[in-house]
Amino acid sequence: MSNSINFENSFAKELSEICEKCSPTAFLESEMLLKNYKLAEELGLSKNFIDSEECLNIFSGVSLPENSIPIAQAYAGHQFGHFNPQLGDGRAILIGEINDYEIQLKGIGQTPFSRRGDGKSALGPVLREYVISEFMHSMSIPTTRSLFAIKTNEFVYRESAQPGGILARVARSHIRIGTFEYARNKNNEVLKSLADYSINRYYPESNETDNKYLSFFAAVCNKQALLISKWMSIGFVHGVMNTDNMAISGETIDYGPCAFMDKYDPKTVFSSIDHQGRYAYLNQPAILVWNLSKFAETLIPLIGEKEEKSIKQLSDILQVTMPTYQEYFYEEMRQKLGLKDVNENNIKIIEGYLKILEFMKIDFTLSFRDLAKILIDKKIVKDSVFKESQDFNDWYKGWLKELNKYKKSNEDISRKMDDVNPCYIPRNHIIERGLGIASEGDISQIKEINELLRSPHLEKNISKDYLSPSSDSDLPYITYCGT
Ligand code: AMP
Ligand code: MG
Repeated sequence: MSNSINFENSFAKELSEICEKCSPTAFLESEMLLKNYKLAEELGLSKNFIDSEECLNIFSGVSLPENSIPIAQAYAGHQFGHFNPQLGDGRAILIGEINDYEIQLKGIGQTPFSRRGDGKSALGPVLREYVISEFMHSMSIPTTRSLFAIKTNEFVYRESAQPGGILARVARSHIRIGTFEYARNKNNEVLKSLADYSINRYYPESNETDNKYLSFFAAVCNKQALLISKWMSIGFVHGVMNTDNMAISGETIDYGPCAFMDKYDPKTVFSSIDHQGRYAYLNQPAILVWNLSKFAETLIPLIGEKEEKSIKQLSDILQVTMPTYQEYFYEEMRQKLGLKDVNENNIKIIEGYLKILEFMKIDFTLSFRDLAKILIDKKIVKDSVFKESQDFNDWYKGWLKELNKYKKSNEDISRKMDDVNPCYIPRNHIIERGLGIASEGDISQIKEINELLRSPHLEKNISKDYLSPSSDSDLPYITYCGT
């Protein structure tokens, strides 16, 4: 065994009560399908190493370096509102940390938390997570990253036999609200170690305050409010915002049933199991607050001696989370519409715009790009997504009146809008098509999509297909968990 990677194991060493040591399954004769050289470089891993047999052996569980202490993290969680006290990494193993980033192998076989599951992943969802999470990163949205997508030499059995896969996932932290729910159920000492660990590693500034746990809670609320505002600004529907899928670092985690909304409909749901629309697009901010209330409950014993006072202090912070989210969301929309500031009039412009999208079921992503084009040449309206909207003209006049105050050229504003509004997103039909071809052994299209989504604002001279929703997008697109 070598020590080619300099793994730290702070989680394994400092939080041994909320994880179990376990060994990855060795997936012999695996194959690297996607390698993220740029991320590898950020982690200090050389190209030579990434391309070596040794690297493949490490990330397919065949032989770990001596300095790795592989663990599965324990957590609990509220899933669709119901508490499950015993979840945990059932198919993921943390092999250590590099430069303060956790390196996890997902789909690497059974762990002490697998329950009845096989601990494996099918290749399709691995590739899907790779592409979508890296797109989120390209959009500067906090997210777990994808280092490698690996194809194993075996099949996994879901509804049918499918090629198996492993995702090497990288995150500042995999600690979830559910991790706190688990620790609180153990005892206050474990809870305190988890909170201290989280503060020291991710929110050290809280150590400088009068009540570091209260300040930590406020900081997590703030980070998550910002995160959800960014999701909302690109039409991202996470699909499974259970408390075990909300990282306290504010990174997007768990890409199972997520998808992007095409036509603007606040009720958009993709997940096959979300019958009530609990995690629908427009419900996400409210669910955020609900999840944070569960987080707050776990922190009560740490805040102070008097429980009632602690609850009041936590509630006060929770109360401002929705308004904070709203501010962040308007700020995102301000940029998307080329506006200068968020004020009463501009909020009306923003809300009016969303109403037009909703009423005419207009493609969310395309709308902003078309709007930027119309700003340069009004004639384009008749070929744009707004062509059938009767309200667009009036709205446009109000918007233009506001922009004209800025004494900037329309070209300048239009360009700035294009800098924030992606033209390419991981559209459902594009990803599905790529995955279909990949399942027959040809990864080239997934690579192409991945490359395209690395610069999502840059319109390229390629098939218009990539820009548009699927022609049969009135059919509901359905996503699945347990991938
Ligand atoms: P997720 O839907 O990915 O959030 O997973 C929910 C829980 O089920 C987590 O504890 C996972 O580790 C576990 N899980 C999902 N798929 C499997 C599997 N194939 N084998 C074992 N555990 C799994
Ligand atoms: Mg999960």
